[in-house]
Amino acid sequence: MTRIAAFWAGLAALACVGVTPALARPTFNLSFIAGTSQAAQDDFTAAANYWAGTLTNNVTINLTVGTANLGGLILGATTSAQVFETYSSLRSALVADKSGDATDATATANLASSASPLSIYMNHTTDNSNSATPFTYSVSNPDFRMTTALARALGYSGLDNVGFSTAGQALSVTAASTTVTCTTCDAIIEFTTAFNWDYTTSDGIAAGNYDFTGAAIHEIAHALGFISGVDTVDFFASGTPTSAATLAGFYMAPLDLFRCSTASKAAGTALDFTEDTRTKYFSLNDCTTTGAAQFADGTSATNGDGSQASHWKNGLGLGIMNPTLTSGVVAAVSTNDLTALDAIGWNLSSAPEPASLALGGVWLAGLGFARRRAAARGTLK
Ligand SMILES: [Zn+2]
Repeated sequence: MTRIAAFWAGLAALACVGVTPALARPTFNLSFIAGTSQAAQDDFTAAANYWAGTLTNNVTINLTVGTANLGGLILGATTSAQVFETYSSLRSALVADKSGDATDATATANLASSASPLSIYMNHTTDNSNSATPFTYSVSNPDFRMTTALARALGYSGLDNVGFSTAGQALSVTAASTTVTCTTCDAIIEFTTAFNWDYTTSDGIAAGNYDFTGAAIHEIAHALGFISGVDTVDFFASGTPTSAATLAGFYMAPLDLFRCSTASKAAGTALDFTEDTRTKYFSLNDCTTTGAAQFADGTSATNGDGSQASHWKNGLGLGIMNPTLTSGVVAAVSTNDLTALDAIGWNLSSAPEPASLALGGVWLAGLGFARRRAAARGTLK
């Protein structure tokens, strides 16, 4: 938590000399479910403060937070309220949201026109007999699904009492024997009681324990809109296959606009919405240029790589949005993490920095540790 304390200390020092930062900040209203330890509440609050110090959108985000035995290797999970907006509307909001930084400039300059149908690289639909072979699907102005927190950042209003997909529907999550319901929250975030957490990041993470603040920063980022619809491709393909129109009309997320591959680029499509193990890049210009950042390929071990598509590719040390967290390691926010949130509509404080460059070494060391003891990894949903 050193990084967070340092930020707020800096802010306080500015205030003392009468220089009030002009930057807007998001406000996080946190509601803790009964039974959440004080240590967990304090660490989650620190994680929210990290995002409040990193983002400059003047919005209020309501989160309901608790702990429960989530089973398996799951460390944490986020269920977000979500709304639909058309591509045309989303595109306009992203353009209007441009904060003047290079990420926004590149991202918005390369968004496909909304005057023409959107071309999407797809597979595993009834349109192609559920085949893994990709094809190009074109659809006029499809809906995109976004978290209500992101919708607020993009300037959409009238979002109170918004549920999973229908206005006025409550969010409801059943964890263990408890059902949690909230009618005005943007997300319900839960952390498992099945693993040992380390609540003091400043002195490192104890062997066999997991970084609670890091996990909280990760889960909040999902609520902020770091989600993908690609996992639904396999969900339908493995059950009752559905059409390209259904997949493209209900499940694409703003982050998917920046998901592409060499093949989707060659096909001239705006995004790669397939589930297979070809490399999917995070790119601001439809894979005209690509960097190190790749997305995970999907939960299915048959069609994907076994990791939820709403994460970075596992094992590459790409950032705090990795699908797994290693025990004994401090989870560090990376430039990839911040650039992705910037691209989908969040604005970063003037000199955004990863949570700690110094911690990168610890993170890499931890990955080496994980390879030797693979069991000591938990999954962040
Ligand atoms: Zn996750």
